[in-house]
Amino acid sequence: MSLLLGCIADDFTGGTDLAGTLSAEGMRTVQSIGVPDGPVADTDAVVIALKSRTAPPAVAVAESLAALRWLRAQGCQQYFFKYCSTFDSTPAGNIGPVAEALLAELGADFTIACPAYPENGRTVYRGHLFVGDELLSESGMKDHPLTPMTDARLLRVLQPQTRLRVGLITHEVVATGSAAIAAACRRAAAAGTGIAIVDAISTADLRAIGNACTGMLLVTGGSGVALGLPDNFRRSGELPATRDISSFPRIDGSAAIIAGSCSTATRAQVAQWLRHHPGFRVDVLRLLEGADISGEALAWATTQHGQPVLIYATAAPEDIRAVQAAAGTQAVGAQIEQTLADIAAGLVNAGTCRLVIAGGETSGAVVKRLGLRALSIGPVIEPGVPWTCSIDAQPLALALKSGNFGSRDFFEKALASLP
Ligand code: ADP
Repeated sequence: MSLLLGCIADDFTGGTDLAGTLSAEGMRTVQSIGVPDGPVADTDAVVIALKSRTAPPAVAVAESLAALRWLRAQGCQQYFFKYCSTFDSTPAGNIGPVAEALLAELGADFTIACPAYPENGRTVYRGHLFVGDELLSESGMKDHPLTPMTDARLLRVLQPQTRLRVGLITHEVVATGSAAIAAACRRAAAAGTGIAIVDAISTADLRAIGNACTGMLLVTGGSGVALGLPDNFRRSGELPATRDISSFPRIDGSAAIIAGSCSTATRAQVAQWLRHHPGFRVDVLRLLEGADISGEALAWATTQHGQPVLIYATAAPEDIRAVQAAAGTQAVGAQIEQTLADIAAGLVNAGTCRLVIAGGETSGAVVKRLGLRALSIGPVIEPGVPWTCSIDAQPLALALKSGNFGSRDFFEKALASLP
């Protein structure tokens, strides 16, 4: 049977978040690391995870189109472009160009953009994105090392990124349900809007929006708006009422946490872990001077006698700004990512097979270095973060956590929740 839903995620933690959502809603889902090199059997949805969020727009567009072409060849009925619930993009902006290119390739002229994820505190009201009680631009996202977000008004963020006209479907419409939302989408498309930002402040809103997207060729958003999509396929009889989602294998072995995120939630999680357990801090200044930090980290890990280890580059905004001023934002980010990926590969070679990775770009770098091709989805640890298992001769258990997700004791909770 052909695939129902083909998804393209602009980073790896976003990919697992979406795959976890679809799986929890009864779709068999596989996450592919990059475009698969062969067919993927026995699945209803494939999420192709790219590391395109911080790439130059032309590269992000080319990679996303390559992913779309593979998905189309599998005969998907609907396509989903997943970006962050904080709408992160570089200043040049990848969300607009990628959405526009995907629409053109599909021969479609309208989609929605809905990053809201109320379960994780992201809501959109009158086109303004909130993180908890704060506007996006006043939240920790203003200090992100690679994609600082300084404007909460999504129309103003998205419009300069695309030639398509950007519109808004407000909460008054959303609150009246999926039929009204679908009608508003038809009206917006007829009036020449190419991308409509859609307000959502609750999970019920997201389900209504998802349901309104029945038959919409391309949907774009955070993973939240995908909540309602599996139901559409159930209603049309293409997805069974219940699905036996395969069980997660037991993977024995030692555990490591690799934190490359500097987001508020990860900083709290690292601090919490260090209250009760040791950790190895990547000294970024020494790294930039050429010190063999990965060698030092691996040597330190061998002294921990198989106990879970934390290796982190996580730092406060003032420390990040200082190293970025010295060596350049992209260069510093990339060098830290590569170092953390080296360390992860060394740990796996030494027998680690349970990995928690904090940070989207960081997860991308690690998973690429480990040469993993695909992940199956397991139990959800906390909203947006499931355990995954590499589809591999020597399977690894991986929890890829978006930097800003998870409660303070996420690391302990993740390790304790593995079968
Ligand atoms: P998040 O999911 O929080 O956005 P990412 O891993 O996507 O986390 O991005 C964090 C970026 O910050 C990575 O490129 C990482 O290498 C970089 N980084 C991590 N620690 C530091 C640090 N101490 N100084 C500067 N940049 C850092």
